[in-house]
Amino acid sequence: MEYTDAPEPPLTEATMQCPLCGHTLPKNAQRCDRCDWVRTNEAVSAEGKASDAVAVLLSIAPGLGHIYKGHKLVGLLLLFFGTPVAVGLALLAATGTAGFAIFLLPIYWFAVMFHAYSIDDRVPADKYDAREQY
Ligand SMILES: [Zn+2]
Repeated sequence: MEYTDAPEPPLTEATMQCPLCGHTLPKNAQRCDRCDWVRTNEAVSAEGKASDAVAVLLSIAPGLGHIYKGHKLVGLLLLFFGTPVAVGLALLAATGTAGFAIFLLPIYWFAVMFHAYSIDDRVPADKYDAREQY
């Protein structure tokens, strides 16, 4: 026998595979000891969905949704830099395209909203991790 990496023990009733790296873990494992997979329980993901919706609503003002989710730097950049630049460019382009470039703005807007929706929610993770587990 060679001493390379030990083979994964076979899956049984009491074990599960890490969804990220496939490492065999106890069935009730909260995190993987090989990669950074962490179990997200129902309560947290439900909360995550609610905040996704709020983040999209806040993105009416592009950047607020990101700030709400804890991405303050990205949010402030969008709010005070990205959006004025996007509006300026669209207006500039609109003068050369008989106004059609104005339709670029909703695309930018939707992109920001979609990003606010899909970006990781940092706020609950910080709260719970800091207090409960360490
Ligand atoms: Zn893993």
